[in-house]
Amino acid sequence: MKPPRFDYLAPSSLDEALGLLDRHGAQAKVLAGGQSLVPLLNFRLARPAYLVDLNEIGGFGGIQMDGGDLVIGAMARQRAVETSPLVRAHCPLLAEAMPQIGHVQIRNRGTFGGSIAHADPASELPAVIAALDGDLVVKSVRGERALKPQAFFVSYFTTALDPNELLTSVRLPALPTRTGTAFLEMSRRHGDFALVGVAATLTVDDTGVCTRCALALTGVGPTPVVPREAGNALVGVTPTPDAIAEVGRRVSAIVRPESDLHASSDYRTHLAGLLTERALTRCVERTRGAHQNHGRP
Ligand SMILES: Cc1cc2nc3c(=O)[nH]c(=O)nc-3n(C[C@H](O)[C@H](O)[C@H](O)COP(=O)(O)OP(=O)(O)OC[C@H]3O[C@@H](n4cnc5c(N)ncnc54)[C@H](O)[C@@H]3O)c2cc1C
Repeated sequence: MKPPRFDYLAPSSLDEALGLLDRHGAQAKVLAGGQSLVPLLNFRLARPAYLVDLNEIGGFGGIQMDGGDLVIGAMARQRAVETSPLVRAHCPLLAEAMPQIGHVQIRNRGTFGGSIAHADPASELPAVIAALDGDLVVKSVRGERALKPQAFFVSYFTTALDPNELLTSVRLPALPTRTGTAFLEMSRRHGDFALVGVAATLTVDDTGVCTRCALALTGVGPTPVVPREAGNALVGVTPTPDAIAEVGRRVSAIVRPESDLHASSDYRTHLAGLLTERALTRCVERTRGAHQNHGRP
């Protein structure tokens, strides 16, 4: 299939792109890496009158530290995030999730912001950002706003972005010292979307008692699922295998995934608990190992 007709626009600055989006509104779609949009165009599931290509805009894909936060520009290629020494040093959770997105050829073109704006319910990045409670920075000609993940991700393939807004960057806060993180997923083949994925962070004090635990799951709902109470059950206790297994049981009891041709609801529910348990076990190991001390005291 060939895409329907559209006018191709290639702004050279962010301001120009925002102006075009303001003028054309819902008639326009932005093109980032094209890894999701181009198939949608070819299948004629998207029929924009205007395609606004973001690839000619400079300075929109940087990866940098800002006051202890890791800030990633929307047009950073997924492969650049995956191989960034800054990401590895300051956000090992993200570094661990990146190689699980599709295949390297897809990550070479696919962008960090494109994956987030696309909001596939089985994608990795929304869960990572939800577990870290990052800020999603969006811009229009009217100004800038920052949204938390629970406000940004609205439903299947739906975000709170207005048609005239662009996601410009994501700000990920540093985690405290003695934090271990882990991202685990189950997919049918390497490179497939996850049936279920879990992003986990766990912090302990110097006696080994858990002071903070954050979880977010992908593949079990229309948006990343954050089982806050299940994670909080570990706070104030030593994260023993029994205590961690109980969190896994609680997560399985909370999630209500849908069945589809890839997996049944029951199997996904089972995976959600099992992967949570395994991810938290890995987090605890990493509070003792090399992953520790990547954050602020
Ligand atoms: C075979 C295959 C396997 C894949 N496997 C996975 C996987 O396992 N996990 C996973 O997460 N993804 C997977 N993907 C999707 C991949 O990660 C895409 O790169 C991603 O979904 C979209 O990023 P993109 O830069 O290509 O965006 P595009 O395809 O260019 O755009 C996607 C959507 O986001 C909008 N958009 C893009 N950038 C912005 C922005 N800055 N502001 C506002 N809107 C924007 C576009 O208008 C469009 O609606 C796979 C893709 C393929 C083809």
